[in-house]
Amino acid sequence: MPAITDDELRVRTHDFLASVPPGADQVTFRGMQFDAGLAVVQFPEGRGGLGLTPQHQAVVDAELRGHPLAVHSLVVNPIGIGMGMPTVLTHGTDEMSERFLRPCFTGEEIWCQLFSEPGSGSDVAGLSTRAELDGDEWIVNGQKVWTTLAHVSRWGMLVARSDPDQPKHKGLTYFVIDMHAPGVDVRPLYQITGDAEFNEVFMTDVRIPDAMRLGERGDGWRVAITTLMNERVALGGGGAPKGGGAIALLVDLWNKKKHELAPAHAAVMRERVTRLWAEAETLRLTALRSRAEAKAGVPGPGGSIGKLMGAELNQAIFEAAIDLHGADGMVFEAGYPLSRADHASMYGADTKKAFLRSRANSIEGGTSEVMRNILGERVLGLPGDVRVDKDVPWTEVPRS
Ligand SMILES: Cc1cc2nc3c(=O)[nH]c(=O)nc-3n(C[C@H](O)[C@H](O)[C@H](O)COP(=O)(O)OP(=O)(O)OC[C@H]3O[C@@H](n4cnc5c(N)ncnc54)[C@H](O)[C@@H]3O)c2cc1C
Repeated sequence: MPAITDDELRVRTHDFLASVPPGADQVTFRGMQFDAGLAVVQFPEGRGGLGLTPQHQAVVDAELRGHPLAVHSLVVNPIGIGMGMPTVLTHGTDEMSERFLRPCFTGEEIWCQLFSEPGSGSDVAGLSTRAELDGDEWIVNGQKVWTTLAHVSRWGMLVARSDPDQPKHKGLTYFVIDMHAPGVDVRPLYQITGDAEFNEVFMTDVRIPDAMRLGERGDGWRVAITTLMNERVALGGGGAPKGGGAIALLVDLWNKKKHELAPAHAAVMRERVTRLWAEAETLRLTALRSRAEAKAGVPGPGGSIGKLMGAELNQAIFEAAIDLHGADGMVFEAGYPLSRADHASMYGADTKKAFLRSRANSIEGGTSEVMRNILGERVLGLPGDVRVDKDVPWTEVPRS
């Protein structure tokens, strides 16, 4: 890792900002940020980074904050930047990094994650979508579900079963799939919020060139782990500045509502808001520590701590917000329009909608029960979850 001080990095970031031409749009801005190595600083030079550590990104982001074109990466292309980029960098060829990373970061090409299926969510390694080799192409058939942003995606991260006679984890292969390819059919699924952030995706005889395989044939589970560990970091929260993000919405609401509450109620709510603020700060500091432990592209199990804590904290924050709204909390003023989101949001400025959206936080990216299993096994060293089908050929595992 090259030696660089935080001050030198700040100067580099200022030089980049000074070089942005007046009137530049967001894609140009982000492309220049990528070329300056300030996109994901832990990535290698020429690939959007400077070969630094993940915590150096916080120095860059603090300098960019406030610039009108500087939008958080997880708003621009949450799945592509949070999960696709590290997976391509870690397991793809140089040609794939050259082709995919920059337009992913700029948001010109949105990515989605095709892992979950109607019969395989937590147990994603048991998935059924088939990939069969035909010359130098694979033919893919199957159905995915809960695929966030598939309707606006150019590329998808697909895990499919290439060898059903192997035990479930060993017969998988990982591909980059062209979401515009013939045979890919994307259908919306509406959530409790009325938004259709996610979709069902049906694949019928979709042809994927072997050159779009990430990792070795049959080694898809190892590649998928890279995606999943990065997903936990991306969803884990703790990236907002001190007092920012969801907790800022609650504190704002508290300041508006506190004078309307009876004194005893106000005292209880004040303590609740304060406690949640302290938890949000603990999460932020925990996220900093887990970022410090992460290597480029490969976070450790610390990401699962942030994912678990972030999900439960977000829900507690918006439950407190609904209690502050009182009876008004039951009214959804916006009505209930069905909409098709063009970005995936953890929460918006509307705390009532955020309350509804936050219900998904303990499911998406792995449920809280599954996070507790991972932490129990990998961090605390407790005995493993029961796995009766681990060494059994996938074809012999009973399924409905
Ligand atoms: C908003 C949202 C967006 C999503 N986006 C995507 C996406 O883009 N791409 C994608 O591939 N998937 C996506 N998902 C799917 C998500 O990853 C799955 O919903 C999740 O992994 C759980 O799987 P499941 O829904 O099949 O539930 P199941 O696995 O059937 O779980 C049902 C219940 O059983 C519990 N359970 C299961 N196994 C265990 C165990 N071993 N120990 C203890 N408890 C257990 C679970 O915690 C849960 O409470 C999204 C989900 C949501 C809600």
